[in-house]
Amino acid sequence: MPPGDPPLTFADLRAIEVTRLKGVGPSLAQRLAQIGIENVLDLLQHYPRRWVDRTKRADIADLRVGEEATVDAEVRTVRSRRTRQGRALVEAVVSDGTSLLNVVFFNQPWREKQLAVGTEAAFFGKLEVYRGRRQMTNPVVDVIGRANAADEKTGVIVPVYPQSGKAEVFTWQLRGLVADALARCAARGFAEPLDEDLLDRHDLVTRDVALRGIHRPESMEELRRARHRLVFDEFLRMQVGLVARKRRIEAERSGIRHVVDGPLLRAFLERLPFPLTGDQRRAIDEILADMASPAPMHRLLQGDVGSGKTVVALAALLAGVQGGYQGALMAPTEVLAEQHHLGSLRLLDGLTVPAEGSLLGERPVRVELLSNRTTAAERRRIAAGLASGEIDLLVGTHALLYGDAEFARLGVVVIDEQHRFGVEQRALLRGKGDEPDVLVMTATPIPRTAAMLVYGDLDRSELREMPPGRTPITTQVVGPNPLDQAAAWGRLRSEVEAGRQAYVVCPLVEDRGRVEARAATAEYERLQAEELAGLRVGLLHGQLPARDKEAVMEAFRGHRLDVLVATTVIEVGVDVPNATVMIVQDADRFGLSQLHQLRGRVGRGGGASWCFLFADPSTPEGEERMRAMAESTDGFLLAEKDLGIRGAGEVFGERQSGFSDLKLGRIPRDEPVVVQARRAAEEILDADPDLARHEQLRAEVEDLLGDAVEFLFKS
Ligand code: ADP
Ligand code: MG
Repeated sequence: MPPGDPPLTFADLRAIEVTRLKGVGPSLAQRLAQIGIENVLDLLQHYPRRWVDRTKRADIADLRVGEEATVDAEVRTVRSRRTRQGRALVEAVVSDGTSLLNVVFFNQPWREKQLAVGTEAAFFGKLEVYRGRRQMTNPVVDVIGRANAADEKTGVIVPVYPQSGKAEVFTWQLRGLVADALARCAARGFAEPLDEDLLDRHDLVTRDVALRGIHRPESMEELRRARHRLVFDEFLRMQVGLVARKRRIEAERSGIRHVVDGPLLRAFLERLPFPLTGDQRRAIDEILADMASPAPMHRLLQGDVGSGKTVVALAALLAGVQGGYQGALMAPTEVLAEQHHLGSLRLLDGLTVPAEGSLLGERPVRVELLSNRTTAAERRRIAAGLASGEIDLLVGTHALLYGDAEFARLGVVVIDEQHRFGVEQRALLRGKGDEPDVLVMTATPIPRTAAMLVYGDLDRSELREMPPGRTPITTQVVGPNPLDQAAAWGRLRSEVEAGRQAYVVCPLVEDRGRVEARAATAEYERLQAEELAGLRVGLLHGQLPARDKEAVMEAFRGHRLDVLVATTVIEVGVDVPNATVMIVQDADRFGLSQLHQLRGRVGRGGGASWCFLFADPSTPEGEERMRAMAESTDGFLLAEKDLGIRGAGEVFGERQSGFSDLKLGRIPRDEPVVVQARRAAEEILDADPDLARHEQLRAEVEDLLGDAVEFLFKS
């Protein structure tokens, strides 16, 4: 790579295969490919997992018993054997020149290979004395170098790379490869996608400085700045995509200008059996303002379980209906669609719309349900009603998307529980009308910055205030002790005797589908014979035919069942206010958000409620989740904890949300950087809406978003 050539872009780096680097033959190349490294860009973005600050090490001779410290030492001897109990034991003696130290590892037989004689490594642990000798047991080990290896270990801060024992790619090898790659790129340098001006304003180092600094920092400060810039870039790419999409929609003038101030909406609001909460009123106002404008609405309504989203959704739908448009309400499950259907029938009872040619000049608002259960004859009837415009609201599941439902004048679409719908499905539904207004509802409370990542292209309304009349839920974590469990079942039975109802959530089965159904059925039968003997018990799982599902739900709603034994299908939206007890089995295996959703099925107005989490957590995270559930019923708080515990990729799913591009960035830790990147994305797009003057950035965003990006930037 001769000097004089232009600096290297990501695209350039991607075009250089790792085999061009020193010492990478076919075998190593194959092993590198196993950990996702095929080209120089992959390699340079295989960021260190940790950095060992060698200035912070202690001398072995100075260590005091009971003290934790990092020592930097060379392996003198290493051997492995088995303890009398048969456990693998690796013992090494290491030295840093001041003294010797014994290091022992239990159940880590591979340490013998890792710590070959002559290996230099940092050991972090607590000093103990065992049989009169100074020792560390199971310390954290970072290999710094290896005698005779072609290894770069200059500098006081040593990067430690994610390595793979399975692929046999080790941190010292990666360090060597990165050093070679950086050296070869030095003459041309790394191309900068951002203006100097923006870098100044946001106090960012250049990409060139950052890529070098992350791998070969000379000070912790340099490392911090390098990391900041690279994390910023990761979030910037996402935000540029999201902000561009949002602006594209806003610029669209072809949406419907709804007349939002009309008799139908007014009548609906006046006849509600309760006053709206302040948040509900505010959300409705925000929605109506969107609907009145010519730009298509693209709004997220976020509200915890029970916060009253349905009323807000219906208000939006009716605002469209009163102008002669049709509305669609889409739910993720049959059960929920049916419930929405029943709920809207109840709330819309007695409301009318003008109808020419009818005797009274008006007719009732017409709501229909379209689901997998809908018969062919009914489908035809519905299709006719939709085409003629006589159906005002259509409630349904995905069937709405893929069926032949053709609306005459689709004006408003509400999608409940967005996180179950993909972006493509949203687009498909929009396509069913001529730019209908879209309201997306989610009961998964999402912290602000996370929402900025996942829903950054949507406007947001929040229902944080709960309607009055919620009843408190007592949450108790119940361990394996049979007496404690018996007490929980006892509470369930006494509530049922008092005329209440209960849920029992089946143990989580990894394998979804048929296996889950079988497990649930077995558990149902067992419970009927044992803990729930004599009670009226129903079973609900995802594999039941729709008709049976509906029959069970009806029976439970109508109080012809006392207890519903169910899998997580009840997680979303099932609303039976008389239910006051829930027992969740294997609770530690559920995610926090999921548990929160499950728990939201009780405490819905029937009276004081209980949630028993049967759990025997085997990991600290499991324990933490159980503790969090027992301590809080605030969905937002739990969502933040969930993020902290599991990380964003896990919580939101990798594919849909672009989290797979995050190599360094993590939320909630990097929240301030997300906010900063959002601001920068707005600044960049303000000045250069089509990124005509940011060709490199544009290419990087397009790489990230793939085909989805096409409509964002005009070429
Ligand atoms: P979400 O869908 O947000 O979980 P719902 O819309 O199902 O919540 O509302 C939960 C319950 O609260 C319903 O029974 C609903 O009728 C009731 N509700 C909604 N808004 C109010 C309010 N402002 N005051 C009292 N009850 C309300
Ligand atoms: Mg709901």
